[in-house]
Amino acid sequence: MSHIVDITIIGAGVIGLAIASQVARKSREVYVLEKNETFGQEQSSRNSEVIHAGIYYKKDSLKAKMCLEGNGLLYELCEKNGIAYKKCGKIIVATNETEARELEIIYRRGKDNGVPLKVLSQREMCQLEPNMRGIAAFLSPTTGIVDSHALMMYFLGKARDNGMQIAYKTNVIGIEKVSSGYEVRVKELFGDFSFITRVVINCAGLYSDKVAEMAGINIDKANYKLHWCKGEYYSVSGGKNRLINRLIYPVPTGISVGVHVCLDVDWRLRLGPLFYYVKEINYKLDDSRKTDFLKSNMMQALPFIESYDLEPESSGIMAMLQAKGEGFRDFIIRHEYERGLPGFINLVGIETPGLTASPAIARYVSILVDELL
Ligand SMILES: Cc1cc2nc3c(=O)[nH]c(=O)nc-3n(C[C@H](O)[C@H](O)[C@H](O)COP(=O)(O)OP(=O)(O)OC[C@H]3O[C@@H](n4cnc5c(N)ncnc54)[C@H](O)[C@@H]3O)c2cc1C
Repeated sequence: MSHIVDITIIGAGVIGLAIASQVARKSREVYVLEKNETFGQEQSSRNSEVIHAGIYYKKDSLKAKMCLEGNGLLYELCEKNGIAYKKCGKIIVATNETEARELEIIYRRGKDNGVPLKVLSQREMCQLEPNMRGIAAFLSPTTGIVDSHALMMYFLGKARDNGMQIAYKTNVIGIEKVSSGYEVRVKELFGDFSFITRVVINCAGLYSDKVAEMAGINIDKANYKLHWCKGEYYSVSGGKNRLINRLIYPVPTGISVGVHVCLDVDWRLRLGPLFYYVKEINYKLDDSRKTDFLKSNMMQALPFIESYDLEPESSGIMAMLQAKGEGFRDFIIRHEYERGLPGFINLVGIETPGLTASPAIARYVSILVDELL
């Protein structure tokens, strides 16, 4: 086999596409391989579309750094390239004394991370969100929302303009280290075939631990094993979207940031995601968790939402490194030369705020790639 591809990116979610848009050059042969019929069918199209500000994450973690940098980059590229977005801001609200104490910790962590935040008085809370109830709150003016499909279309277009080629219905089933790089084995419509590539970038989302394993990494030892968390969204009908002026979040109590107000660029109102760990990928929904929604602390802050306004709407599944009950886990973005895999770059556990962080992650990875090619 004489022909060698320069870069192979596994996965056409927002991360794979953002990286492709950053590393593609006319002088490089870059392929994106995607097992589905088209791009962005998994985490990247089943999320809250929030441009996070970087409030919640441990100081100096990759999540905090990439989120803050991504926030700025995302607004810039949305503005320049006509991608729909709204810098609507968000309020985090406490509805009791215990939550108020937790809110203070979150506020300090956000400030420590360099996020612009403003504590609100009761009067300001009433002015900004007259229909919200709470005893303490702060405003994050740099939180917003983005049309995630339009964002992915932009990354795809930019990468293609720079010569990237994308293969759909192409499932990566094996990766082997060879002297000139990696032999990547794929299964597609007409059977299996393999090719050699100098660099592999693993952006396989929910399956990124499996792809790392294909390359010979012991994912238990490396602590790369992913846990899947299903998040359910409920639509809110009855024109209640008109009663809200920005995103509203509770003080987090369970997995991730808690059931919150989700608004899209057309101001469609949903609540969610209500997260729970799952063993299989299944996006089916029924209303069996409605009681959990009604019990969530977000409902205390939004008394105008009635049980009959809520209907199951959609779901997404997130790739979490954090096992049930475990503490903070950071993104893994690593060139695996220390594991004897030079030219193999892993992105594992790119959960929230991955959408926000995508342009920053792409820059970070492109620096790693430039050192290799
Ligand atoms: C419910 C939910 C809410 C979220 N809310 C937000 C939010 O508001 N703001 C925010 O910033 N982030 C949010 N996130 C996180 C964000 O959506 C993810 O971080 C981001 O989409 C991850 O993108 P990705 O490209 O890594 O993964 P994915 O979008 O999952 O893409 C991975 C791709 O790899 C492909 N693939 C996998 N294995 C193979 C293989 N063997 N061969 C070929 N292709 C393969 C898959 O088919 C898939 O298309 C949320 C996530 C969820 C689930």
